[in-house]
Amino acid sequence: MDATSNEAATTVVLATRNAGKIKELNALLSNLGVTVVGLADFPAIGDIPETGDTFLENARLKALAVCQATGLISLADDSGLCVDALSGAPGVRSARYAGEDATDAANNAKLLAALAHVPEVDRTCRFVSVVVAAAPDGRELTAEGTWEGRVATAPAGAGGFGYDPLFFDPTAGKTAAELTAAEKNARSHRGKALAGLIEKWGAWRG
Ligand code: IMP
Repeated sequence: MDATSNEAATTVVLATRNAGKIKELNALLSNLGVTVVGLADFPAIGDIPETGDTFLENARLKALAVCQATGLISLADDSGLCVDALSGAPGVRSARYAGEDATDAANNAKLLAALAHVPEVDRTCRFVSVVVAAAPDGRELTAEGTWEGRVATAPAGAGGFGYDPLFFDPTAGKTAAELTAAEKNARSHRGKALAGLIEKWGAWRG
């Protein structure tokens, strides 16, 4: 299915108030006949607590809550950094690793301290992103993307956000914060999850 075979665009709600994320997804989904709006268009929907133990549970509970509140197909994602030497932490707690409302700098400092005595070879980690679409008829679509790397021993680079300055991609030979946005999207967990979602979208929508 493409825009030319689609009589009216399908409106999809992305469970975010981040205008940048909405713009990015609109560009990716426009030739599927999809228009993406965000939670700013639905002020009655308050914060949806991420109470799940897995990325999938958190993405699902956000997508289902927004779908129920709007009656529209809803999309949500959850992501984070999983470090092998920390048994998968910070994982679903990535945003609040150093405490509720923690800054990126505080989270990164805590991660460096937790790995202070861990040698380079054992600093393996991955970013994970899970995206869920929920339709009012109860059908769901899920896609996941991962990005393998290593936790650097010191931050490098000024781009990106979150753990990007500490996430070293051995294939690129750089941290995520040293990549351009286009380079990061081409290899990132989120880019891969969205690519998977787009690939399955046509068949899912029928
Ligand atoms: P959320 O999926 O928006 O809840 O993000 C969870 C947290 O995971 C973020 O606040 C970051 O700390 C971390 N994270 C997720 N994706 C990335 C990324 O691409 N770069 C750096 N940090 C990320």
